[in-house]
Amino acid sequence: MKLLEERIQKDGIIKEGNVLKVDSFLNHQMDIHLFNKMGQEFKRLFGDKPINKILTIEASGIGIACIAAQHFNVPVVFAKKAQSINIDGEVYATKIESFTHKKTYDVIVSKKYISSEDHILIIDDFLANGCALNGLIDLVQSAGATVEGIGIAIEKGFQAGGKLIRSKGVHLESLAIVESMDTTTGTIKFRPQ
Ligand code: 5GP
Repeated sequence: MKLLEERIQKDGIIKEGNVLKVDSFLNHQMDIHLFNKMGQEFKRLFGDKPINKILTIEASGIGIACIAAQHFNVPVVFAKKAQSINIDGEVYATKIESFTHKKTYDVIVSKKYISSEDHILIIDDFLANGCALNGLIDLVQSAGATVEGIGIAIEKGFQAGGKLIRSKGVHLESLAIVESMDTTTGTIKFRPQ
């Protein structure tokens, strides 16, 4: 998606450890006009699927998922990062290792909000090693629901997640795929799509 690539090129900041900071339009301040265009694009990519719910994970996925949901006219459920102490039989639970915080979280969704009837589009901001997506897929499968597709804003194509998730046969679409980023020169290259 040209608009997103241009914005990353203009405002993205490359940090140590393969981290791309996009706080000025996506992860802290949010550009709602851009989010709306991203939502439109997700609708174009997944509009033929019988999606009745969007699943994301707190915190950064929520804004993108909510704007996208307006294009699908479906509710959004976000998986919560929980204290283990709160985990009981009322929730589906999984573990996710955070790429940015190097910490493992218990992540939960209430059994009230996903069921075997659901056809789910998973949405998140970044795809790096695929831990977050693996966890979200696990939650959907625990509920016996169907993953209809996965929509990502920014995939770091030089990390393993994209290949891993696509090899499961899931329909994964990323709006921008960063092929390489150079900390010293600040150069960001995208995979042609
Ligand atoms: P994964 O689980 O695929 O390794 O990493 C994806 C998660 O880590 C995303 O939910 C995102 O919040 C965070 N993340 C991974 N890489 C980056 C990055 O380069 N920049 C930002 N801002 N977040 C990232």
